[in-house]
Amino acid sequence: MPFLLVRDTALKKASLKPLLDRSLIMYNVLSGREAAKAVLERIEEKVSKMKTKPHLAIVLVGNDPASEIYVKKKIDRAAKVGVKTTLKRLSETATEGAVLSLVDELNNDGDVDGFIVQAPLPKQIDYNKVLEAIKPEKDVDGWTPASMGKMVSGVKTFKPATPLGVMKILEHYNVEISGKNVTVIGRSNVVGKPLALMLLEKNATVTVCHSKTKNLVEHTRNADILVVAVGKPGLVTADMVKEGAYVIDVGTTRVDDKLRGDVDFDNVIKKAHCSPVPGGVGPMTVAMLISNVVEAHEG
Ligand code: NAP
Repeated sequence: MPFLLVRDTALKKASLKPLLDRSLIMYNVLSGREAAKAVLERIEEKVSKMKTKPHLAIVLVGNDPASEIYVKKKIDRAAKVGVKTTLKRLSETATEGAVLSLVDELNNDGDVDGFIVQAPLPKQIDYNKVLEAIKPEKDVDGWTPASMGKMVSGVKTFKPATPLGVMKILEHYNVEISGKNVTVIGRSNVVGKPLALMLLEKNATVTVCHSKTKNLVEHTRNADILVVAVGKPGLVTADMVKEGAYVIDVGTTRVDDKLRGDVDFDNVIKKAHCSPVPGGVGPMTVAMLISNVVEAHEG
């Protein structure tokens, strides 16, 4: 039982019986910050030995304040581990043609290993059209229909950073996935759907829930691993969680200038292992994007 922590260390030497007393059991905070640190340290070491450095380009259209923050985070983290970045800015009024032409340029730029087009885009631009124009071998966000199709078929491709980050947190904490009941709440193209596929690939029995799911609690209580990616703070309460389960909270909603997840962390952590918000999946998302860029550089 690698995650069973006993408050009184003297008890560790005593018989196992006291471990059965629930008051002595604490559950692990599944820290994305720690897992990301481990991933980034490995990347830094690998990159330091490379003759040429991996290169990520980021296309930022307009000046959405949240996008500015996310892009800065990506650039800063990449720099820390020796990955080069180039920011390509287009104005809020840029045409779809201008974005597609930049995508074409980056697709054919031999110096750029991979690139992303930061979402959301201004409304005059069809995001799906832009995604379709990105070559899969440069799609380090793993969001294009071509990358998704490859993933469904089990063909090697770049996988979306957020669900990949969820998988890495589970791996970091040695959570067994094979044969486990996993419930994913949320079925978006960027989180829920690709995550369900990744879990299936690891032999989990996966249930995907969404806004039309009846009796959500039935599915959450049955889960050995529960991943919540909805964007509704407090959606998952302790009574919905199986004792000793692993709960990963992907949700991020700004409430009164604070970031909140979908899970009632303070109460859920008393009966299950749980990732916090902030400090959970967020740091992993950036780390996994950088990991994809390094992989693209390796070819
Ligand atoms: P999304 O596209 O809005 O999808 C939300 C999903 O939740 C949908 O599938 C929706 O069902 C489902 N849903 C809504 N209300 C529900 C309810 N009451 N019960 C069960 N399911 C419900 O969102 P997303 O892009 O996947 O993001 C989800 C959350 O993760 C957001 O808070 C987002 O900010 C966060 N996020 C965080 C990171 C990170 O790096 N930390 C990255 C990406 C996203 P329907 O399909 O039926 O509408």
